[in-house]
Amino acid sequence: MGVDPNCIFCKIVAGQIPSFRLFEDVASLAFMDINPANEGHCLVIAKPHHPTLYDMPPDLLAAVSATVLKVAKAVEAALKPDGLNLVQSNGKGAAQSVPHFHVHVLPRRLGDNLKINWEPKPGDRAAIAAVAERIKAKL
Ligand code: 5GP
Ligand code: ZN
Repeated sequence: MGVDPNCIFCKIVAGQIPSFRLFEDVASLAFMDINPANEGHCLVIAKPHHPTLYDMPPDLLAAVSATVLKVAKAVEAALKPDGLNLVQSNGKGAAQSVPHFHVHVLPRRLGDNLKINWEPKPGDRAAIAAVAERIKAKL
């Protein structure tokens, strides 16, 4: 299994750093975020070290996603939040601070004012179509 000896999440997987573990299987580990944005904020990580989404083997992403679903349902049942976001960040522009693939399971409360939401504003149709073509060319 890929391990980066300098990676904080690899150390958590190995049990070298303590964490509040929620669940694990062969591919994934869920534990509480040590700097919770809201009560119940937790993380689901891939056990092997892959820095970003782009590095993830699809079957590993599927396995992590199954754990995300399991944990999100447990958070919903335990805490009855008003909503719940999944947040997954890649790269500096997305404010990724730990370069080991992870998904935030983030319970939301009405009025919590977390800065991850935006007001939808209609886009320019021609610009949307043009960027769609650029993305489709890479699929
Ligand atoms: P990112 O900014 O990369 O999307 O999220 C990284 C998350 O990992 C942050 O929310 C941060 O609070 C959390 N984190 C960083 N170091 C540790 C740690 O040592 N233990 C735990 N449980 N969470 C951590
Ligand atoms: Zn790692």
